[in-house]
Amino acid sequence: MSIFEKIKESSVSRRTFLKWSGVSATPIVFGGVATKKYLKPKAVAATQKDDEETIIPTCGTTNCGGRCLIKTHVKDGKIVRITTDDAEEDSLICPQIRACLRGRSYRKFVYNPNRLKYPMKRVGKRGEGKFERISWDEAIDTIYKETKRITDKYGPASRYSTYASGNWGGIASGRTMFKKLMALTGGYLGYHNTYSSAQTSNATPYTYGTGATGSSLDSLVNSKLIILWGHNPAETIFGTSNFYLKRAKEAGAKIYVVDPRYTNSGIGLADEWFPIRPTTDNALMDAMTYVILTEKLHDKDFLDKYCIGHDEDHMPENIPEGESLESYILGKKDGIEKTPEWAEKICGLPANKIRQLARDYAMAKPAALLQGYGPQRHMNGEQIVRGATVLASLTGNVGKNGGWASGQGGFSRTSVASVPQVENPLGITIPCFLWTDAVTHGTEMSADDGVRGLKDGETLPSNIKLIFNLAGNALLNQHGDINETAKILEDESLVEFIVVSDVFMTPSAKFADILLPSNTFFERHDIGLPWGYGDYAILSQKVSENLYESKSDYEWLTLLAEKMGVKDKFTEGKTEKDWARWVVEETKKQDPSFSTWEQMQKNGIHKWKFDKPTIGFEKQISDPENNPFPTPSGKIEIFSKDLWDMDNHEEIPAIPKHIAVGEGPESELTKKYPLQMIGWHYKRRCHSIHDNNPWMEEAGKQEMWVNEMDAQKRNLKDGDIAKVFNDRGVVQIPVKITNKIVPGVVAIPQGAWYTPNKDGIDTRGSINVLTTLKPSPLAKGNPQHTNLVEVEKI
Ligand code: SF4
Repeated sequence: MSIFEKIKESSVSRRTFLKWSGVSATPIVFGGVATKKYLKPKAVAATQKDDEETIIPTCGTTNCGGRCLIKTHVKDGKIVRITTDDAEEDSLICPQIRACLRGRSYRKFVYNPNRLKYPMKRVGKRGEGKFERISWDEAIDTIYKETKRITDKYGPASRYSTYASGNWGGIASGRTMFKKLMALTGGYLGYHNTYSSAQTSNATPYTYGTGATGSSLDSLVNSKLIILWGHNPAETIFGTSNFYLKRAKEAGAKIYVVDPRYTNSGIGLADEWFPIRPTTDNALMDAMTYVILTEKLHDKDFLDKYCIGHDEDHMPENIPEGESLESYILGKKDGIEKTPEWAEKICGLPANKIRQLARDYAMAKPAALLQGYGPQRHMNGEQIVRGATVLASLTGNVGKNGGWASGQGGFSRTSVASVPQVENPLGITIPCFLWTDAVTHGTEMSADDGVRGLKDGETLPSNIKLIFNLAGNALLNQHGDINETAKILEDESLVEFIVVSDVFMTPSAKFADILLPSNTFFERHDIGLPWGYGDYAILSQKVSENLYESKSDYEWLTLLAEKMGVKDKFTEGKTEKDWARWVVEETKKQDPSFSTWEQMQKNGIHKWKFDKPTIGFEKQISDPENNPFPTPSGKIEIFSKDLWDMDNHEEIPAIPKHIAVGEGPESELTKKYPLQMIGWHYKRRCHSIHDNNPWMEEAGKQEMWVNEMDAQKRNLKDGDIAKVFNDRGVVQIPVKITNKIVPGVVAIPQGAWYTPNKDGIDTRGSINVLTTLKPSPLAKGNPQHTNLVEVEKI
């Protein structure tokens, strides 16, 4: 069956297919289930009445890769029901943006009786969770005085806002507005990276010169084979990934999943699961490269024309013999050929399966290797990212429709206007994961620790002394090594003042000195954009007035700005709604096809439509003379001279390779802690949000996956409560025995709220009790999936 016939059988529209394929005149008769399904149009309108309910469209601004259309049905000022995008059109060029189960449970978020209702000040020891109600006046006055005292004593580099993603809106989140206020009043210590993607955002540019890799998702319907490598969009939600993966499958693409777990994406989409041990991805990639090179399945013309470092004839100047990818793979220097049999011992996937995976990927043209962010959140995560970029280049799948330039995947072809920022006069940033280091010994931290903005030989001017933690749980729960982090926070001689603003009393909120009740996105305006993959923007629209005494971060920071004498510069005379309108109107000036403010209010969403996929690096491949890759060599750098020059060839090699990690399957520590432990983003939470949502508790219990063989060895039965431990702490959690996880590995879904008992043992299954504060070597990112533990029945 030709690709044309396959797509004809799917729900792809004729117009779209003709434009993409270049086919011009074949008559097609459409009908059948896919077309009939959308015959009944239902408009989305702010003023639409439905049994006296007013429907107001909005959008969640939590840090979810989705950003979906949430249609709130409001009656007597209260949200009585939530529905989602049911637009008439649901096609390749205009998919519906439907909410997931979390989105449909938002009423239990906004009307949760446990919301923080008024400002409070700490009365017990820090972290104990004892607070007393105060007025907003007292709260703002205390914050003002403490900010002034600490700034006068330690300088602006002592002021820090922790990484926080509970409000990931585009215009006025606390993290954005903190930066503006502090920049207007002398500066602050900034951060770079994210907790999600530090390794890939730092490593990918060493190959391509940019992290904007991948292509638009609609290109996937042209793929013959798609490999989801540690990628689980069914639960994590990356824009419209699931929609396009389903369409690709209908069009005939095979889908493989490489993962230690047989994920929901695997269950729903995959033709085959290739299970591997965590941290061993590069052993598998090395062996795939061995098969592809020795069986001459590589695209030699592509490599010779566009790449550098693949063999000894294509190396940068002044690099000694034997450092190319080919030399490493064939063992010319270390004497170890990276055969499938070699890799099998490390990654656990049988050699014949490694050969199959390599051959299928190399021979299915075009093929797309999509990597999720899970595999890169390892101690050797940078290698895993660059290994995938090499496989894509080796097989000539970069710059091709249906191929995929693997790596960060930050490709985006749509954008909206950015709210103007104020430059930080201090100009110094730390890797966000290293804030605890900057608390305990910031004045010893230099560029070697990943600090940016310092001159040669300089260190940070101050330790962190003042923390604003706004809509974030990375102050404790989402950071590494919770027990160690709690000790640092409890010590009032280190951080002298902590402000927290949140919707609930999270484990992080308990460490506040002043605790402020935040409103939710239902009570304010903002703009929502998906993580790169998705051609749409949503107006996050106010549906309700602030509940209780809550305020948005923008509202109370404006009060603080007034006290600091910079209110006018801070707000520029605008409310959050004014800023949202400004973004819409500025975007329309740049792109006349964009919706008007009135249309956005009515429809809630703007969907861009494209006639054909946009292919990452298409120009670099079709016209390399005029469009070099933005790397030092102008080519795809399989060998990176920049990495070579760092002169740390064991930890940070110039070509990606398997590096055994301290807490991996090859580690000595396995004698004490024999099980690898990983986390994953669970469908029932968005990071740690919704852990206290009763509907989500019904949708997915907090439990640890254990393979049957490991359970038998420990006499564990399904539902038993187990103790999981290592040198960093102890967690109690129910056990789910399943063969959907490889032997030797356990998995705890991330985001459960740390709930210690009197002995300091977490009773909720909060994974970061067991994770480390040690960062990955290049990005200084969090390696939260690289852990060894032991499990015992209680
Ligand atoms: S949690 Fe994410 S995927 Fe689910 S409805 Fe909200 S924005 Fe959409």
